[in-house]
Amino acid sequence: MALLASGSSGNAALVYAGDAGVLIDCGISARQVRLRIEAAGLAHVRIEAVALTHEHVDHVAGVRVLARRLGVPVLATRGTLTAARDALADVPERAMVRPGETVRVGGLALLPFRSSHDAEEPVGFRVAFPSGRVLGYLSDSGTLGGEAAEALSGCHTLAIEANHDVEMLERGPYPPFLKRRIRSTVGHLSNDDAATALALLAHDGLATVVGLHLSQQNNTPHAALAALVEARDRVGLACTVAAASQHEPLVCGV
Ligand SMILES: [Zn+2]
Ligand SMILES: [Zn+2]
Repeated sequence: MALLASGSSGNAALVYAGDAGVLIDCGISARQVRLRIEAAGLAHVRIEAVALTHEHVDHVAGVRVLARRLGVPVLATRGTLTAARDALADVPERAMVRPGETVRVGGLALLPFRSSHDAEEPVGFRVAFPSGRVLGYLSDSGTLGGEAAEALSGCHTLAIEANHDVEMLERGPYPPFLKRRIRSTVGHLSNDDAATALALLAHDGLATVVGLHLSQQNNTPHAALAALVEARDRVGLACTVAAASQHEPLVCGV
């Protein structure tokens, strides 16, 4: 997997097996997607579809141009397809996915599962690779929720939102309504939430945990990593922890 961009200024992640890949979200420009895939050394990977988590602009801003340019379908839930209809105008094909129903693209099996966010019908994805390895991907969610925790269990790589440090958010410059929204059950997972998820989902096969969607106002990579390392050490795992960046790609094995 390559996390091409992660954060409130744009999100895109490339999951791939061999030369075939699926882009999860496209909240950066089609040009930036191409440049970052090249920078990650993955220019050989052909994007066969774009799968959307939800309709917020930081997840869909570049999807229209990219899908048209590459001639690939956009996969999303009914709610996301409806809410993002302007962002998806003229894309070659829209395909509806349903939470709990697996879709297969280029050797990958993607299982959308419900997340908890102030969007129409948001989802995360559990991605099974031909190798048997499994990735869990959850960004933009106020809680882990029953369905999400179940869908993420047994993953070898866990990419999970670590949006904010609770204290930095409290003390930071955001207006009270926005702080409440971020902390709410349809807002964003904190570093502590990501650490709780790591501990909850820990198993011997969990090799990598990556924090996603770090706030540039209310978080630092250092704070996010510290929370994940503390949880990892507490449960006695040997997994790698990392934090995705807004500005440069991060390649992590699955
Ligand atoms: Zn977002
Ligand atoms: Zn969002």
